[in-house]
Amino acid sequence: ADIVARIKSDLAEMGLDGKVQVGGTGCMGLCSKGPLVRMTSKVHEDTLFSEMTPDLASRLVTEVVAPIARGEKVADPVGPLGAHVMDLHAAFFAMQERVVLSNNGHADPEKLADYLVHGGYQGLRKALTMSAEEICQEMLASGLRGRGGAGYPTGLKWDFARRVESDVKYVICNGDEGDPGAFMDRSVLEGDPHAVIEGMMIAARAMNATNGVFYIRAEYPLAVDRVEKAIRQARQAGLVGRNILNSGWSFDFDVRLGAGAFVCGEETALIASVEGKRGTPRPRPPFPSVKGLWNKPSCVNNVETLANVPRILLKGADWFAAKGTEKSKGTKVFALTGKIAHNGLVEVPMGITIREIVETIGGGTGTDRKVKAVQTGGPSGGMIPESQFDTPISYEHLQQLGSMMGSGGLIVIDDQDSVVELARFYLDFCVDESCGKCAPCRIGGTQMLGLLDKIVAGEGTEEDIANIRMIAQAMQKGSLCALGQTAPNPVLSALKHFGSEFTERLKKPVAAEA
Ligand code: SF4
Repeated sequence: ADIVARIKSDLAEMGLDGKVQVGGTGCMGLCSKGPLVRMTSKVHEDTLFSEMTPDLASRLVTEVVAPIARGEKVADPVGPLGAHVMDLHAAFFAMQERVVLSNNGHADPEKLADYLVHGGYQGLRKALTMSAEEICQEMLASGLRGRGGAGYPTGLKWDFARRVESDVKYVICNGDEGDPGAFMDRSVLEGDPHAVIEGMMIAARAMNATNGVFYIRAEYPLAVDRVEKAIRQARQAGLVGRNILNSGWSFDFDVRLGAGAFVCGEETALIASVEGKRGTPRPRPPFPSVKGLWNKPSCVNNVETLANVPRILLKGADWFAAKGTEKSKGTKVFALTGKIAHNGLVEVPMGITIREIVETIGGGTGTDRKVKAVQTGGPSGGMIPESQFDTPISYEHLQQLGSMMGSGGLIVIDDQDSVVELARFYLDFCVDESCGKCAPCRIGGTQMLGLLDKIVAGEGTEEDIANIRMIAQAMQKGSLCALGQTAPNPVLSALKHFGSEFTERLKKPVAAEA
């Protein structure tokens, strides 16, 4: 905000504020080099400046932007700030394929006009000409699967809700992103709120839903603000509300804030929370598509899933299905964090290898340390050792490695990090976030954490490791929701791939006296 303010005031002082447009945009991904400023002009190539400060922004205005705006010949528009110019052809940008993040860096999320210029609400216009069944079929043909973790086919989920007769149905956007190290949904909501709104409206058409609900973490105030602003803009433009685009169809939104409980990412807990109840999961069936919010058929979709929808409808199922692997179509957004040189947000086609993401796009550790493993899928996922990095990223491949896609957190650790302690960290997180409703998760998690504490303290035994495996099985089989069922994953995958690190930390036998 300081940089934007400085650029605007400098331009105003020079009398150039009418000639140069200045706006904000969504996250461009390269957090490690931020703040970023993008400059485009009719006569020069798109240029991205990194690590900007208000003072550098002033130099950019005086030495680069102002001469260009006055029509003066500028031989080298980036010369004065050359050290800050990013190579847009570098692997970080070139190896990405941006669908969900395509507007980030190009459009101002606070301006509906910007979204419309980039094809906004064209998918909805098309949906208004299609039957509910046709939209579900299009989504099924695209191969889009839920990006929140489970990977359930989106078209199938919508079709279940479509088949249930009801005067009221809800489409719910799950913006309760709570994994440590994950910020994909936040960046999409902040950077392209209209795409999620449009995705929800297309989902609503597909299942004949009557109301939309955004459920967003209260800790994401900018996301909440931009979504609310975008809904107001769309309402004023006749895109949301009564008789949308003179089609006779009416649909509107509510925005509800989540208090940051990880378990509220589970759809039945989320629904309970929206209803003002304690956010705890309930047994299924009945599934939310039959009995959801206020006992009405409801469909809960993740932010990234919904942001894909308008693009699929506009460009066609075949266009989307052409990307990715046989069973995992399209692209996936990852939050790259931990011991990685280019930490930030990346969107890549499914099927790209873990090595390409970590080493080529992410630049490895950026230090003289070696990458040891990545944790994918947050506290529900698992650790993948460097030796398996040539595995393609897809729902099925990650599952084979004992991990999962999850929502897209990707945390890199180096050879100085302890997998035992990292596994303990994730389990501690799940124990803390467990709602306590069912015994396998409530008691099993606490017991397993106690055993891990013993091992970390150098007091553990082989029997403790055997007990960890036994408790993990009970949690996986007996827990009511995915939180408890998947909480042992980081520990089990660490044991599978780094078993020796656990045994090395066990209590050393006391040497017999001579
Ligand atoms: Fe609650 Fe854990 Fe049971 Fe889920 S598995 S209902 S979080 S106690």
